[in-house]
Amino acid sequence: MSYANLLARTRALRRLVEGSARKDPFPQSIDLNLTTRCNGRCNHCSFWRIPGKDLPTALALDLFDSLAGHLSPGTKVNILGGEPTLHPDLPILLRRCEELGFQAVLTTNGRLLADPDLAAVLLRSPPSMVVVSLDGLETVNDRLRGPGSFRLALAALTNLFRLAPSTTRVVQALVAGPTHPYLDELATLLERDALAQALTLQVLCPDFALPHVRGWWRSHPLWPEDPSAVGLSLDRLAASRKDRLPVLALSSGQLIAWKKYFLDPEGFERLGPGCGLAGQHLDCGPDGGLRLCPHHPSIGRLGEAPLHEMLTNPRAETVRRAMASCDVVCNFLVNCRYELLHHRKSS
Ligand code: SF4
Ligand code: SF4
Repeated sequence: MSYANLLARTRALRRLVEGSARKDPFPQSIDLNLTTRCNGRCNHCSFWRIPGKDLPTALALDLFDSLAGHLSPGTKVNILGGEPTLHPDLPILLRRCEELGFQAVLTTNGRLLADPDLAAVLLRSPPSMVVVSLDGLETVNDRLRGPGSFRLALAALTNLFRLAPSTTRVVQALVAGPTHPYLDELATLLERDALAQALTLQVLCPDFALPHVRGWWRSHPLWPEDPSAVGLSLDRLAASRKDRLPVLALSSGQLIAWKKYFLDPEGFERLGPGCGLAGQHLDCGPDGGLRLCPHHPSIGRLGEAPLHEMLTNPRAETVRRAMASCDVVCNFLVNCRYELLHHRKSS
């Protein structure tokens, strides 16, 4: 670790201790959406239909600086899109993020990283982790994510291994009707060819780019015809991966939540109002809009006022109250925050 990095982490730790003593409003989960643009055409996502917009680099750098000293050392900052590798200043942003002591986690479809020359430029300042989306073996993946996307993702993983050996390579796969029977085979391939160090899963959820509609899954073409079979596939994956390629987020609690979700998404929705995410998360959109959850109104825009003020303004308080009684089933709850549901149920 460089001296500058060590200094940044020490300052962050000190401010964190000071912050917790005065109830620091800064969340510890950060999603930075750099752009709405995407060079993918996945049929389960509408992002690529949105008019293109990139987050101005100066605003993103200001956000990092504002977060410095308020996040725990090593906090993961999720760099997302659209497709974040399309942002013209991605290497600058990755460098600043890591210099400040955060762990940049870049989620990508891998298309640009598949080109060795472009990958060398994009990985000049390697992030701590790169998550490449891959939804099963070639036939299934290319049906969902577009022809050729499987081979591009594999080329990206190979380039990552060669150009950024200290970066952790993770593959993220969608759990849906067409994909769940092949997850185990995908994990075997990743392990056999040393393409990734871990597999992570995301179950099929409402399209982020569209307004939430109750019962969305009933007409979704990728919803499994036999939801109970999904549970069997997940059990098989968990059993076969024991002591082998890790499957991130496949803890027993998450596994139970996903099985329930596929068996009874309506019942899952009726677990009860309220969301424990209020105050824990901050989402920044490509327009600089700041949200405490992607599905609730913005609390302000980067550059309008100091971040601390926006996190404590009346708009933020209103959103926190609305989140505390929110009963939407969103990607956060079902994929990343099962423990909040668990706590809510058992409390
Ligand atoms: S899922 Fe990702 S790669 Fe595919 S269209 Fe949406 S943003 Fe692009
Ligand atoms: S449950 Fe509601 S408040 Fe919580 S993250 Fe999802 S949409 Fe936001």
